[in-house]
Amino acid sequence: VRARVMQVEHSPDVTYADIGGLEEQMQEVRETVEMPLEHPDMFEDVGITPPSGVLLYGPPGTGKTMLAKAVANETDATFIKMAGSELVHKFIGEGAKLVRDLFEVARENQPAVLFIDEIDAIASKRTDSKTSGDAEVQRTMMQLLSEMDGFDERGEVRIIAATNRFDMLDPAILRPGRFDRLIEVPKPNTEGREIIFQIHTRKMNLASDINFDELAEMTPDASGADIKAICTEAGMFAIRDDRTEVTLDDFLGAHEKLQQDDETGADDSL
Ligand code: ATP
Repeated sequence: VRARVMQVEHSPDVTYADIGGLEEQMQEVRETVEMPLEHPDMFEDVGITPPSGVLLYGPPGTGKTMLAKAVANETDATFIKMAGSELVHKFIGEGAKLVRDLFEVARENQPAVLFIDEIDAIASKRTDSKTSGDAEVQRTMMQLLSEMDGFDERGEVRIIAATNRFDMLDPAILRPGRFDRLIEVPKPNTEGREIIFQIHTRKMNLASDINFDELAEMTPDASGADIKAICTEAGMFAIRDDRTEVTLDDFLGAHEKLQQDDETGADDSL
């Protein structure tokens, strides 16, 4: 079961340079995750326990996973990822056991960054109806909180959780010593989009008419993931046309196509 639901990568290949438009967020992640991993002695000397984890929240496809991977890369830490939805199980005690396994794997592979995506799946506000399914989810969350509370023995393990639904979260996970650093990861502004277009076209053979400013202006609602999709689709336009150079028209066409797909629901990832 472990191998199926847990993704383990030793020093993943994402770097800070691959992330566009999230300077402040990057700075905060570095302070709260990198510092304790690289200089645990400083915290010991001062006599404080660093916060167990940080919570990244914001719309899908904005770079939350990338931030977690980049910090693991930068600190030569093992990146361990699990989706909150994978922790929701039918059988009693199974979710809690997975949480224990997760921390066990992190301990065995420290220094480690433990990334829990979709944390809302196990940490939503309590519902009134106490069906057995809810109770099981509750137990899973209690196990997570207790693992986090016993953190001083965890050594060099940092936890990053992410959610698209901040408003749904149970305040219990936001108590001091748990996820007490909250970092909003919004969709990029115009400048951010420009940088992200530059990042995702680094290896592309671009025609001289490409203007990143213009690309950023024409995609006001795009997330980083949307921009990546536009770049790939623009490349596909060139290939269909039997060209090796990608033009501004290709990007315009790609953007239009993806917007249409989005409207008709043909591609859920956008
Ligand atoms: P979700 O909430 O859906 O899990 P996420 O916020 O974790 O999304 P990522 O998985 O980090 O999003 O991003 C998906 C892909 O989109 C990345 O692999 C990257 O190619 C691109 N991307 C997203 N945000 C950025 C960004 N800020 N800079 C560069 N690329 C980005």
